Amino acid sequence: MYYGFDVGGTKIEFGAFDRDLNRVASERVPTPGDNYSLLIETLANLVEKYDQELGCEGTVGLGIPGIEKAEDGSVLTVNVPAAKGRTLRADLEAKIGRSVALNNDANCFALSEAWDKSLQGEKIVLGLILGTGFGGGIVVNGKVLSGKNNVAGELGHMRMPIDAWLHLGDNAPIFDCGCEKKGCIDNYLSGRGFEMLYSHFYGEDKKAIDIISDFKAGVERDAEFVDKYIEMLAMVFGGLFTGIDPDVVVLGGGLSNFEYIYEEMPKRLPKYLLSIANPPKIIKAKYGDSGGVRGAAFLNI
Ligand SMILES: [Zn+2]
Repeated sequence: MYYGFDVGGTKIEFGAFDRDLNRVASERVPTPGDNYSLLIETLANLVEKYDQELGCEGTVGLGIPGIEKAEDGSVLTVNVPAAKGRTLRADLEAKIGRSVALNNDANCFALSEAWDKSLQGEKIVLGLILGTGFGGGIVVNGKVLSGKNNVAGELGHMRMPIDAWLHLGDNAPIFDCGCEKKGCIDNYLSGRGFEMLYSHFYGEDKKAIDIISDFKAGVERDAEFVDKYIEMLAMVFGGLFTGIDPDVVVLGGGLSNFEYIYEEMPKRLPKYLLSIANPPKIIKAKYGDSGGVRGAAFLNI
């Protein structure tokens, strides 16, 4: 049995999956604020409860909105204060007496999609989240590629390619990033970036959902903006796909519901790839909110 925990800012979601990767148990509990020992206890109690209920000793995987520091196993996270700076994996291992896998939630998202039956034969699955932020996860032969520092797949903090930035015109903005660098693609590609760009060009704060609905209604300014964004997206994707060369790209997050992306990418991408390369298949994520818990469980496959 594979147990997964999606540890979020407000709730912890638990899921147990059988050998065929079907979900056989679910539970949601609140994340215990900034009380670390209560966090460990909450996780350990759920493991014990489902061991008894399911008559097994499940493997344990944690997905968190953060990164485990490679040197000492401490967790870098903003959204789960209780785990901040703590050696969450090692402490839970000590408490429950079995090994624990831990990875960030974007990697878990990608892993969850990569283990969908339809994608299990694919060598490289790249998960990209076009949500409030832009993030990614790289899955190679069914395993998360974490890298030396556990930052592989942190694609949002790659800087804008020069062609994509020039494409934004003479008045192109250089946005500051939460990572303290400038020009990270997170701030251009994400839903937040989409709105920031719109506001930069037109001096109007408008929600992404309203821009898209006005684009669909044929409002000229919104059509012009969406075209500019989609071309920029193709340019940035061209760089990412040249570096990673994925077989399949799975898009998640709010903007992934914008069907126009899937219509346009196959047309616009080829000119930003090497001439020898064909664009990867680009599809919409299947698992939505349950991706985090699935991926966390599948860290132990
Ligand atoms: Zn950054």
